Amino acid sequence: MSVIGIDFGNESCYVAVARAGGIETIANDYSLRATPSCVAFSGRNRILGVAAKSQTVTNMKNTIHGFKRLLGRKLNDPHVQKEAKLLPYQLCQKPDGSLGIKVNYLDEEHVFTPEQITAMLLTKLKEISEQALKTKVNDCVISVPSYFTNAERKALLDAAQIAGLNVLKLMNETTATALAYGIYKQDLPNAEEKPRNVVFVDCGHSSLQVSACAFHKGKLKMLASASDPNLGGRDIDAILAEHFSNDFQTRYRLDPRTNPRAYLRLLTEVEKLKKQMSANSTRLPMNIECFMNDKDVHGDMKRVDMEGLCAHLFMRVEQTLKKCLEDSKLRLDEIYSVEIVGGSSRIPAIKQLIESVFKKGASTTLNQDEAVARGCALQCAMLSPAVRVREFNVTDIQNYPVKLVWDPSAKEDGEMEVFPQFHQMPFSKILTFYRKENFELVAYYNCATPYPDPYIGRFIVKDVRPTAEGECSKIKVKVRINIHGIASVVAAAMIEKKEAIEENNVDQAQNNEKEESQPANNQQQSNQEPMDMKEDEEDKKDVKKKKQLTKTVDLPIEGMTHGYSQVQLNDYYEMECKMIANDRQEKERADARNALEEYVYELRGKLSSDGELHPFVLPADREKFVNELDSMETWLYEEGEDCTRQVYFERLTTLKNVGEPIKNRKIEFESRAVAMEELAHTL
Ligand code: ATP
Ligand code: MG
Repeated sequence: MSVIGIDFGNESCYVAVARAGGIETIANDYSLRATPSCVAFSGRNRILGVAAKSQTVTNMKNTIHGFKRLLGRKLNDPHVQKEAKLLPYQLCQKPDGSLGIKVNYLDEEHVFTPEQITAMLLTKLKEISEQALKTKVNDCVISVPSYFTNAERKALLDAAQIAGLNVLKLMNETTATALAYGIYKQDLPNAEEKPRNVVFVDCGHSSLQVSACAFHKGKLKMLASASDPNLGGRDIDAILAEHFSNDFQTRYRLDPRTNPRAYLRLLTEVEKLKKQMSANSTRLPMNIECFMNDKDVHGDMKRVDMEGLCAHLFMRVEQTLKKCLEDSKLRLDEIYSVEIVGGSSRIPAIKQLIESVFKKGASTTLNQDEAVARGCALQCAMLSPAVRVREFNVTDIQNYPVKLVWDPSAKEDGEMEVFPQFHQMPFSKILTFYRKENFELVAYYNCATPYPDPYIGRFIVKDVRPTAEGECSKIKVKVRINIHGIASVVAAAMIEKKEAIEENNVDQAQNNEKEESQPANNQQQSNQEPMDMKEDEEDKKDVKKKKQLTKTVDLPIEGMTHGYSQVQLNDYYEMECKMIANDRQEKERADARNALEEYVYELRGKLSSDGELHPFVLPADREKFVNELDSMETWLYEEGEDCTRQVYFERLTTLKNVGEPIKNRKIEFESRAVAMEELAHTL
């Protein structure tokens, strides 16, 4: 069993595996390391990854990309509305209120959620890994942008579950990069020395993330992160496409914006031009043949022109860099280096901005495309008992402050910021409440986030009873940001006073209490920073004085938060399994058809007048067989276009019954000739 790390990018994905010998990035079925985040549908099957991307223009409405940005969102989300304008496929609202993507699949209209589409891509990545590693793959670590909120993180976990993957951790992309950087550095400072502070900049397809990290030997601690979730390579492409659309309108009277297919082609061409401009500052041409109305179009651009057109974007890059610097509270001279990853950080203007903000050039120590996946693979190996790799301690941070809100009883505030921004995660905190009956806690992000709604979840603490005296019971509630960066209320317990216990029963009673209070003890252990110190000291006194007199009763919590129900996820999982089976069947069918087609071509070629099998069959038989091959070819392109695997197999067997004896005659003849020659030699 292997464990893998997945960089789930908006444009492309990378998968890496960490083994005792080192980390390796896995190549896909096209021998490429990048697998496009692209899922397409046809009348027969799904097309995933590289093959999906290569048919984008011809099957535009059924080729889904850019869905990372739709995860966990609703149709009326302003962000989704904005994205919808850029997407060639159709979005809709499902009856349950979730976002749907409408496609034509198996010649019928189907609506899939972004979580299902992501699951399809994950299925492909799982398959690629299993083929490359020749073992089953289940456990993985998947990257997420540090700015992803609960809803988006939960949606990605749901997608992984639909794909049958077990996510050991959702890992922030820049943290994964930091791990990939730190793990092989032999010269990191010792624990008592000042840390080595490194800034990581990841500018990808659709977003920019900047994080500061402090390294010591064998460990890293994230300090701060800043991001612009709407600033990446595709935004530059859109500006260039707009520029050339105006240009073509003036010079050719052609407006690609009125023709989605032409616009997609233009986007592909401007992206190529943009990449060339990263390496070249001279004027570069852009030619597109048969662009619209059979007309060829030509344009050109210089790097400085692009920089002028995108100046407002670069200003936002600068702001994000400065924000991270400010939030990290590091002085410039405390920063050891600024490491860049992500495709768009190859743009010279971005590198220059890094230099001007941090007063040092951008370093490219890491593999810019693969670092995130490699970091995830390392983390996965560390978390998995199945694989042993070098240990490295990773302390990540929570990107947004989290608050809890409740109906206040006397002398209570009714709300509290439980986790401030950049608080260490995973982490648990315990809050103490005094209540006589069930109560509700609602969690929110305590600041604006890229997700339109700050709501995290609603949690009802149940089975709360007053004390025997009819007073409020003491309730301890555990709030946690888990390993995936998801905040929730995870446990609650009621501290009950007990009657005095007879001397010879004490031991047993204490044991019972220990068992019962086990969850609370765990909570206390992870509660490295108690919410209410006064309260906790009191608790400790309580524990000392009347340890055997209190009992902890776990309380159930009803949580309502983002994501699909288990029942729905099971349904989606089954649908995914059916689609996988259908794809497999379709592949076997296509393979059988190809095998028949190939046999027809092979035999006809070899039976032709200069073919190698020509002399080994009587002319009349040959003519009959060639006619058979010809009619088989015609059949394949007409009524035989669309048959089951079995039909192709049977037809191939019929042909082979005639063809193979001819081939065998040739083999026999040749081996006889060799034998004769050997005999002649020996005589
Ligand atoms: P994201 O991280 O935003 O989810 P991603 O990880 O898929 O997306 P990357 O693979 O890091 O994104 O980067 C892809 C982007 O980088 C594309 O917009 C591409 O045009 C751009 N890019 C790649 N190489 C270059 C280059 N040499 N010059 C400019 N841009 C480039
Ligand atoms: Mg990326």
